[in-house]
Amino acid sequence: LGAAEPVLRARALRAAYGGFVALDGVDLDLPAGRVTAVVGPNGAGKSTLFHCLAGTVRPTRGTVRLAGRDITRLPAHARTRLGIARTFQQPAVFPTLTVAENVRVGAEQGRPGAGPGAVERTLRLLGLDGPVRAHPATGLPTGTLRRVELARALATGPRVLLLDEPAAGLDTGEVAALTRILAALAADGTALLVVEHDLDLVAGLADVVHVMTAGRVIASGPPGSVLDALGRTDRPEAPGQTD
Ligand code: ADP
Ligand code: MG
Repeated sequence: LGAAEPVLRARALRAAYGGFVALDGVDLDLPAGRVTAVVGPNGAGKSTLFHCLAGTVRPTRGTVRLAGRDITRLPAHARTRLGIARTFQQPAVFPTLTVAENVRVGAEQGRPGAGPGAVERTLRLLGLDGPVRAHPATGLPTGTLRRVELARALATGPRVLLLDEPAAGLDTGEVAALTRILAALAADGTALLVVEHDLDLVAGLADVVHVMTAGRVIASGPPGSVLDALGRTDRPEAPGQTD
């Protein structure tokens, strides 16, 4: 794996639902140790792009490569084994299993050797190693459920972590805690993709932001420049402003 090849590389992805083209020629690189964000209005194709990387939607054209290997035709579970983990827009956990058991399922579905150590480490990292570990997932508050889901994904031992709207339903304190955890994961070398509505989360976390509209990427760059440009189209600078 040369320095030039990111962990995950998508090229010219196109995807359609029936005749409707939801993704129209998208390129995306996810480098190790970096947080990449995709933002854009509802219906832009963000989740469809996400699904093409996770393996839950099959693109009609284009390629997805993991560490140089073409995985375009691999199903989702095979991608998980190779080190691509994901969370869901609506938290998806096994309701009757305990928190710890849900996380163990992740370790079993993930990269060979993720193991029991990964379960305990992940429970600790997400503050789930207290009494809550023995609680059935059903009935837990949204913020906790999201942590359980993230823990399950992390227990797979991912090289690439895909997150679809991880801040949805979280309060300000929970978003701040999530930001710290995700930044630490990136610092450890994981390649992160965050598809997000919450531009504050993106601004505080992402190294690169891609803006999507109508199935295409229309702007890319560091959050400062890209999000400023978006803001200016919405609300022009006040006249006479000097800084
Ligand atoms: P985003 O995540 O940016 O809101 P999506 O990728 O979910 O966008 O959707 C992109 C477009 O594809 C939207 O117009 C949406 O209605 C359509 N779409 C998404 N999923 C399906 C589906 N399963 N069947 C038909 N159309 C879909
Ligand atoms: Mg979406």
